[in-house]
Amino acid sequence: MSDVIVIGGGLAGLFNAILLNRAGLKVTVIEKKTYPMHRVCGEYISNEVIPFLSSLDIDLNELNVARINRLEVTAASGTKLSQKLDLGGFGLSRFTFDNFLYRKALAEGVNFLVGTRVEDIRFAGEQFEVVTPGQTLTAPLAIGSFGKRSNLDQKLQRPFFYKRSPYLAVKFHLQMDFPTDLIQLNNYKDGYCGVSKTDGDRYCMCYMAHRDDLRKYGTLQALEENVIRKNPYLDEIFRNAKFLLDKPEVINEISFEKKAPVDNHIFMSGDTAGMIAPLCGNGMTMAIHSAKILSEKIVTHYKSGSFSPEKRTNLEQDYTQSWNKQFAQRLWVGRQLQRLFGNDNMTAITLNTLGHLPSVAQYLISKTHGQPFA
Ligand SMILES: Cc1cc2nc3c(=O)[nH]c(=O)nc-3n(C[C@H](O)[C@H](O)[C@H](O)COP(=O)(O)OP(=O)(O)OC[C@H]3O[C@@H](n4cnc5c(N)ncnc54)[C@H](O)[C@@H]3O)c2cc1C
Repeated sequence: MSDVIVIGGGLAGLFNAILLNRAGLKVTVIEKKTYPMHRVCGEYISNEVIPFLSSLDIDLNELNVARINRLEVTAASGTKLSQKLDLGGFGLSRFTFDNFLYRKALAEGVNFLVGTRVEDIRFAGEQFEVVTPGQTLTAPLAIGSFGKRSNLDQKLQRPFFYKRSPYLAVKFHLQMDFPTDLIQLNNYKDGYCGVSKTDGDRYCMCYMAHRDDLRKYGTLQALEENVIRKNPYLDEIFRNAKFLLDKPEVINEISFEKKAPVDNHIFMSGDTAGMIAPLCGNGMTMAIHSAKILSEKIVTHYKSGSFSPEKRTNLEQDYTQSWNKQFAQRLWVGRQLQRLFGNDNMTAITLNTLGHLPSVAQYLISKTHGQPFA
């Protein structure tokens, strides 16, 4: 019997598990894959999280991260905007980071069911029943941290699931000659591609594209040749880099639609509560920050050990309010930027304009990020 069942062991799930376990709650994490695993992600993490990671004794030097403090945004025409990043960030692969957190949580006493897909979640009589192929687990609290799109979104009939999204994304690891302190965001027709250093001797390249372009050209390779490599900066990378993964990681149906932070009494955390456009480079930080906010609220409300309907309603309202206060505006700005930078003609015009107005560029970046938190 657990106090909390966490469904999905990405960043949001792992941080919720570590924090709640440290506060004395019995936590079970159910993750459908096994660690270590690659994920589609640009692997650039905003420095906002550094004080919080330090408070948990997570030493970034030990993880061999790359320190990043410059941004370049390019258009297929060759136009380029260069900007110093006031806050900056670091590069760390999900293969390394998620596995490190999993091992840490395991060592600290969190219970894990890995390689186990949750098929259903039911709520009745103040208890959750979490159904997996082998067993049904029960707990008074359930955290949904199952990422941007999952079988459970359909099971829970979450409205965003039924609005089709045309975006797919692809991630590679590369070895190449490229500055270690730079994140480059390169645009082309209907999409963009982030490139930056990650831990170890490798770089991450992660692109988003439109489903219609893939349909038109048939294969990823043809899509890359006919659309993505039209950006000269990306063409140079494709020509010169050594590709390290046997095959790229690919996902589709990436949606930026609004979601609810609490749904069917399940507390949603990370992308499951709301996903920011990847070009903002802030999704991982938001996943981590949402886990901190949620686990602190749970600990405060849960102190007496049992859950009345009234107590649950208070916790649900409290978390929803805090989540919206911290993240709703960022998500809105992210959706507007996604519209702008998903269109190459607009990108070139915008870059030319922002090139003359660096303070406006800095302002836009700040609106997609929060303050450092501990
Ligand atoms: C193309 C792209 C590029 C990005 N680049 C960046 C970037 O550079 N910087 C940044 O900060 N953010 C970036 N992001 C966003 C970032 O990847 C996410 O915000 C972050 O991964 C969210 O973490 P999470 O824990 O919410 O979800 P995830 O990391 O996706 O974890 C969800 C977990 O739930 C598991 N799961 C799902 N369903 C079930 C089930 N039924 N049963 C059990 N387990 C289940 C999954 O296997 C997964 O392990 C990018 C996103 C995309 C799409």
